[in-house]
Order: sequence, then C-alpha cells, then structure tokens
Amino acid sequence: MSKRIAIIGGGYIGAELAKSLDGEAEVTLIEPRSHFVHAPAMIRAVVDPALIERALIPYDSLLKNGRVVRARASGVDEGGVSLDDGTRVEADVVVVATGSSNATPFKPEGDDIEALRAANRRIHDQLVAARSVGIVGAGAVGTELAGEIAHAMPDKKITLISGTARLFPTMPDKLGDGLARKLRVAGVEIILGTRAENLQSMTTPYAGGLTLSDGSTRDFDLIFPVVGSRASSGVLEALPGAQKSSANRIKVDGYMRPSSLPNVFAAGDVADAGDAMTIVAASRQLPWLTKTLKGLIAGKSIGEMKPYKPWGPKAPILVPLGPERGNSFLVLFTAGDLVTRMMKGKDLFVAKYNKTLNRT
Ligand SMILES: Cc1cc2nc3c(=O)[nH]c(=O)nc-3n(C[C@H](O)[C@H](O)[C@H](O)COP(=O)(O)OP(=O)(O)OC[C@H]3O[C@@H](n4cnc5c(N)ncnc54)[C@H](O)[C@@H]3O)c2cc1C
Repeated sequence: MSKRIAIIGGGYIGAELAKSLDGEAEVTLIEPRSHFVHAPAMIRAVVDPALIERALIPYDSLLKNGRVVRARASGVDEGGVSLDDGTRVEADVVVVATGSSNATPFKPEGDDIEALRAANRRIHDQLVAARSVGIVGAGAVGTELAGEIAHAMPDKKITLISGTARLFPTMPDKLGDGLARKLRVAGVEIILGTRAENLQSMTTPYAGGLTLSDGSTRDFDLIFPVVGSRASSGVLEALPGAQKSSANRIKVDGYMRPSSLPNVFAAGDVADAGDAMTIVAASRQLPWLTKTLKGLIAGKSIGEMKPYKPWGPKAPILVPLGPERGNSFLVLFTAGDLVTRMMKGKDLFVAKYNKTLNRT
C-alpha cells in the first residue's frame, strides 16, 4: 500500500486525522469551508457573539506537509475522490468524514462562513429583543442553549420542550434529573413528554406559535428548533453495498468501511459505527483510525489489525448550563457544577481546538 490518503471533510475527525497522519503519508484534506466550526462554542456564541472569533478557526495552519483543498467532494471510488469543480484527488486510501448538519446558527447551512457569522449576529439580536423563548428539542444542544440563555439573560422567559418524559432518558437518572432541577432553579420552564407539532422550520429560529401534542398552544417571540443532527452522507450513498441507518448515517463494518470498497473508510457523524453523533465518539475513533491507517501504510493487511470497538450506549457526556453550572456523566460517576465547569463549561474546549488547528 502506498501513501496517498484523501480525507473528505475537515470536522472533528477529519481535521485531527489529517494532522495525525501529516508527515506519515501524503495527506489531502478536502474541505469547502474556510474555517473549522467548533460547534460546542456556537451555542454560547448566541448569547455572546464575541466568542465566534475563536469558535471559527481558519484551516490555513493545520497541515505542515499535506494540503487542504478547498472544494466539495462529489463522488468517491477505489481510486480517489471526484470534486465538484470537475477535478480529482487520486488516493490509495479515502476517509469520508463529511459529518452532519444541524440548526442555524450552530453549524453553517452551506459552505459560507460569512453567512454563519451573519446568522449568529441576526439571531443574537432577535434573542436580545425577545421576551419569551421556546426551545424545541431537549437533547444536549437544546438543554445547553436553555442554560446559556438563562445564565446570560436571566430576564428571558425560557420554555424547553422535550418529547421524552425526562431529560437524557438513556443516561443514569441523576444526569437528566439534576440538569432539569438546575434549569428550573434558573427559571426555565420544562415541558416533558410533549412534542411540538407544527414547527415552521426544523433548522431556523423564528417568532410564532406552537401547537403541542397535549393540545395546548404557546406563542413565543423566538422559537429555536433544536431537533438533532442529520448526517451529510451524499457521497457515501452511491457506494456499492452502502446501507443507511438513522439520521441519514451510513452503517460501517468493524473496520469502519461503509461499502464493499476495501480502501474507503468513514468516520464521525456520517458513519454509524455504534457510537452517537458526538465529538466524544470522534475522539475514540481517532486513535483507532490513526493506528489502523498507519498499519496499512506500513504494509499490514486490515485483517491483521483489531476492529474498532464503539463506546456503546453509555459514553461520557458533559452538559454545561452556562459557564458556571452543569452536570456530566463520566461513565464511572455523574459529576456536578465544579467538574463540568472545569472540564468544559469555562472554556468549551475553545483553546484545545485552536491549538489543534495550530492557532494560538
Ligand atoms: C451546537 C452543537 C454543539 C455540540 N456540542 C458537542 C459537545 O459539546 N460534545 C460532543 O461530543 N459533541 C457535540 N456536538 C456534536 C459534534 O459537533 C459532532 O459530533 C461533530 O461535529 C462531528 O464531527 P465530524 O468530524 O464527524 O463532522 P463535522 O464536524 O460535521 O464536519 C464535517 C465536515 O465535512 C465537510 N463536508 C461535508 N460534506 C462535504 C463534502 N461533500 N466534501 C468535502 N467536505 C464536506 C463540512 O464542511 C465539515 O467541515 C455538538 C453539535 C452541535 C450542532
């Protein structure tokens, strides 16, 4: 096996993998955006737009030896990657790390980082002007958003609407119940086990009324739809034997391969390897993928290497409610304000990812 590795998508898994193989192989990272988007900080950036300057991190210092090609991949085959400008990147190994989309202004709608900055400013202004805020969806993003707004703008009347009967129902009760208690203390109304039935947009905040599944109606000055990520699986869908699972993700085998092509791998949100769509999952996949690809570069066959083992359902999760409070499930125990603040709430890993992208 020779050494040309093409990585499609410079998110958490793609950017870090490109960096960890830079120098070991001829790395080409294919990424249409000018900046890495550090999603966890984009939630706080809604209440503190100044944070966006460090949450959007340019790619230009990432690689020392390899190259970042500013383009969108349109197709993958055994010999490499076709780009939307009609050119190709020939490669011996391809890793598809195209990730997922989410709601505005947390991730870009397309490739335009300036449009994301503009959306952040617009929605921040709408939030400042709003008295009542409805958040539809109480996963990590919705719950954190409620906590950030309650912390930074305590005069807002915030309602968090959850389709499930408790927050974080697949985690130990202590996590979700503790978060719900802290949010209520901060003045957030939480409506559990109830769905919003007439969302006008699944991705863009708007002012309007909601009809809930219990038959009641509510009006809000600003509604944030926060209903989860959708994988960007377009380039994988056409591969031989590719199979979709939930949220548009593509199943991968034990060696993180999404199709019958032996040299095409997929990782991160786009790949259903048994992990959730999280950075926590990408962080587990990264060392395995790095080791496995280095093994291939060194001439080993894939069967000589260990398959990937996902976290399974009880992966760690850190849920800050603003910079001071929060709860975290850390596998062996559930932690409260202090640990959540020190591990994540204070800085939201902004320094870590600026360092990863070789920015200070
Ligand atoms: C607001 C928010 C907060 C979050 N906070 C946390 C958190 O605190 N902890 C946690 O563990 N997880 C968190 N997550 C989840 C986390 O962001 C995702 O799991 C993570 O982004 C997945 O990384 P990835 O590398 O798979 O893809 P992404 O980060 O989505 O990156 C994919 C990249 O691929 C590029 N791309 C897409 N299509 C193509 C193409 N055709 N050609 C070339 N490039 C392409 C995109 O431009 C993008 O840069 C959060 C998500 C959101 C939305």
